Amino acid sequence: MSTSRERSGFTRRGFAALTVAGGAGAAALAQPARREVTAASVPDDPIAPGVQEGTLPEEEPFQGALRFTRRDVKTKVQPFAGTDVRLLPGRFLDAQQANEAVLRRIPADRLIHAFRLNAGIASSAQPLGGWEKPDCEVRGCFAGHFLTASAHMYASTGDPDIKAKADSIVTGLAQCQARLRGGYLSAFPLELFDRLNARREVWAPFYTIHKIMAGLLDMYQLCGNKEALETIAGVAGWAGAWTAAMPEEHMQAVLDTEYGGMNEVLYNLAAATGDDKFAEMGDRFTKKRFFNPLALACDRLRGLHTNTHIPQVTGAARRYEISGDPRFRNVATFFWDQVTGARSYSTGGTSNNEGWLTDPHRLAAELGRGESTNECCCAYNMLKLTRKLYSWSADPRAFDYYERVLYNHRLGTIDLRTGATQYYLGLVPGSWRTFSTEYDSFWCCTGTGIEEFSKLNDSVYFHDDEGLYVNLFIPSEVNWAEKGVRVRQETGFPEAASTTLRISCDKPVRMRLSIRVPCWVPSAPGVKINGRAAEVSASPGSYVGIDRTWTSGDRVEMDLPMEIRREPMPDDPAIQAVFYGPLLLAGQFGREGLTRDLVIGPMGPALKKLPAPALPSLAAREAIRPADGPLAFRATGTQGTQIDLVPFNRVSDQRYTVYWTVS
Ligand SMILES: [Zn+2]
Repeated sequence: MSTSRERSGFTRRGFAALTVAGGAGAAALAQPARREVTAASVPDDPIAPGVQEGTLPEEEPFQGALRFTRRDVKTKVQPFAGTDVRLLPGRFLDAQQANEAVLRRIPADRLIHAFRLNAGIASSAQPLGGWEKPDCEVRGCFAGHFLTASAHMYASTGDPDIKAKADSIVTGLAQCQARLRGGYLSAFPLELFDRLNARREVWAPFYTIHKIMAGLLDMYQLCGNKEALETIAGVAGWAGAWTAAMPEEHMQAVLDTEYGGMNEVLYNLAAATGDDKFAEMGDRFTKKRFFNPLALACDRLRGLHTNTHIPQVTGAARRYEISGDPRFRNVATFFWDQVTGARSYSTGGTSNNEGWLTDPHRLAAELGRGESTNECCCAYNMLKLTRKLYSWSADPRAFDYYERVLYNHRLGTIDLRTGATQYYLGLVPGSWRTFSTEYDSFWCCTGTGIEEFSKLNDSVYFHDDEGLYVNLFIPSEVNWAEKGVRVRQETGFPEAASTTLRISCDKPVRMRLSIRVPCWVPSAPGVKINGRAAEVSASPGSYVGIDRTWTSGDRVEMDLPMEIRREPMPDDPAIQAVFYGPLLLAGQFGREGLTRDLVIGPMGPALKKLPAPALPSLAAREAIRPADGPLAFRATGTQGTQIDLVPFNRVSDQRYTVYWTVS
């Protein structure tokens, strides 16, 4: 798919545009017609209620030049540094280690090869394939993801080899930058930016620059690499000069081409250096046409390319944090509410054929319109945004969503044997997983995948001045040095329906311990302190709070009772997903006909190439009962067929369904 796309000159967004317009995946690729997907409506869509126009007040929140004044907002809770939290044995550590092995295997010289060619520096390294091929228009992107992933992996594990290799890549990139002059650093020539400026066909040049800048900034912030800071300052200087030359109206047109999180990385750089000029550069990447409806609480997301826009909102969230400007906060919170509440499938993932194809709450309709659902980058970026918004409010419901995405979307998308990851996560009944290859993929989702599984420790715990928040039930240990306390979480969750927290401290310490009570528990969970039932209570979707003076050896146990429940599609109650606690369950239908060609992405499952499996339907009142083995369940379909259900994240190589027709 990627090679045919490169041959034909279609961009990722162009491809999405085709599928939005044509709705037929690969078949649409053959069609010459193209349409932008940045339009805020899809007027010729037969299920559309009509173009939404004229509902916005005349006074738009974002108009004219933005003015930046630095004013940091104190968040309600703060995350721990990656160095403070270690994963303990379990499925998450397995995923981290499979990913770390990939970081070790890919040679640094091959990642820098296309940069060196572009800078006129000799390179005998074997070129990489996929989106890193030396003639691909987003080449160099993965090197940026690799730096971000390495920086997080170093923080997560302290492994000096990971840091040394990433340091050598930073040096290699800095040498290319010196040769290219003017601060520019890319594996492709400036000619792509000339096309961007002339509004001619080009893939996504600033998207690629964003990944490189983010990788360099992470190397500075997480690994202390000062060469990375000098290098990113050079790139920012180049980008600042390029954008400063643009009249406002023309720059707004340039922003129609996917640019990742250029706003976010420039705000982060401003925060890291204390230099407001980077924030002013970031402001130039404010796509007003997208932000205005969001700031007015209007969902105009239909027809937009999903992953083009999520990182822009994370940038808005960051802008709020360093300026206090409420318009940006409104953009971020309304967007999050809409995407998580009205545009997410049972996995917590969003998008179909890379776009939002329908109006809010029309997910059954959207699912019927293509097999490439749930682009993995979107889930990754929504988790990043969620984590940020949670820090403003400490609202535990943010972690109900986070947990849903983590267990039901992300965890199953890495192959623990190879470290390969997915692009789309197909949800049409009868789908199967499609994975990357090690040297011929390097898609956007390979990049966000390698980042994700390097920082699985980053959201388990948060803190404020007085207390610790336990948000996820993942075997791990947090060292809160400032408070002089360590908390070790021992749990077999979700196979075991409880978690245990063990406190270590050199001297007694006063601390409020807040443990998340998930929305899916059927009733208030039992809590024991040092083996004795504690008189605390909290309802589902809140925190159990225990405020006391702790001594070393104290132990807290909390039950996490789970039960079966069904979730109907909002626009078709006869299509339902089945959950056990936080876990989406799937039925498996064997792997007959799944040749190697069919299980390699980037595309989602090519359902038309295989006969549809016989999918039983569920009776509305059919009991789903425990079967042999942990987290295994069984039901009888309406045709008398036996249905075996397991957690979706465990289904690796079989055809499956997570959506059932209910009669
Ligand atoms: Zn992607």
